[in-house]
Amino acid sequence: MNYAHVEDIITTLRGELPPEVTLVAVSKFHPIEAIEAAVRGGQEVFGESRAQELAQKHAALPHLKWHFIGHLQSNKVRAVVPCVSLIHSVDSVALLHTIDKEAAKIGRVVDVLLQLHVAQETTKFGLTCDECVALADSGVLATLGNVKVRGVMGMATNTDDSAEIAAEFKKIRSVFDTLKSSFYPSDDSFSVVSMGMSHDYRIAIDCGSNMVRIGTTIFGEREY
Ligand SMILES: *Cc1c(COP(=O)(O)O)cnc(C)c1O
Repeated sequence: MNYAHVEDIITTLRGELPPEVTLVAVSKFHPIEAIEAAVRGGQEVFGESRAQELAQKHAALPHLKWHFIGHLQSNKVRAVVPCVSLIHSVDSVALLHTIDKEAAKIGRVVDVLLQLHVAQETTKFGLTCDECVALADSGVLATLGNVKVRGVMGMATNTDDSAEIAAEFKKIRSVFDTLKSSFYPSDDSFSVVSMGMSHDYRIAIDCGSNMVRIGTTIFGEREY
C-alpha cells in the first residue's frame, strides 16, 4: 500500500466535516506508517477492531487516542482496557460488568458507547433499541463505578438505498435522544452519537451523528 496521500485526505476530510463531528480514523489492517501519515495530517484519534492489533499499535504509539470499534469478546477485555480512550461496541450487560471489573483493577474509568443493532444484516452485533432503553432503565449503569456510558454507536445496512440508511441512522439518533432526555438530561458527558463509515458518513451526519468512523476513504482498501 502507498500512504502518500493519507495526510492530504485527512486535511480534506477535516475541512468537509462540521467542527462538532469527531473523526475516528479506522486504521485496522493498516501498518504504523499509515497511522504516522495520518498523524502528520493532524489526526489523533484512531479506531481498531481487534484486541491484539490494538495492543501492538498502542504500544508503538501510546500518545494517540485509541478507540475499540469491533466486536469485543469478554476474554479480550483485559488486553483492550489499558489501551483505549473509548470502546464503541458494548452490546451486553455481561460485557459492561467485565469492562468495569478490569478497569477497576487498573484504577481507570473507561468511556463506552452502547452499540445498537438497527441494520437488516443479522451478522451485525448490538442491542435492539428496546433492549438499550431497558438497560438504561434498569439502573445498572449507575452501579458501575469504572465504566462511563458516553452515548451510542451503530451501523446501517450495507446497501445503496440511502433512504433505508437514513431511516436506520435516525433510529439510532432517536434512541440517543430518548436516553439523553430520560436518564442523562444534565450530564454533558453523555453526548456521543457514533455512526457513519466511508460510504455513508454524509448521510449519518445529516441524521445527527457527531462521531464518524472512516477507514477506506483515508487509507484505501484493506487487505485481509
Ligand atoms: C471497519 C469499520 C469501520 C470503517 O469502515 P470503512 O468502510 O473502511 O470506512 C467503521 N466502523 C466499524 C465498526 C468498522 O468495523
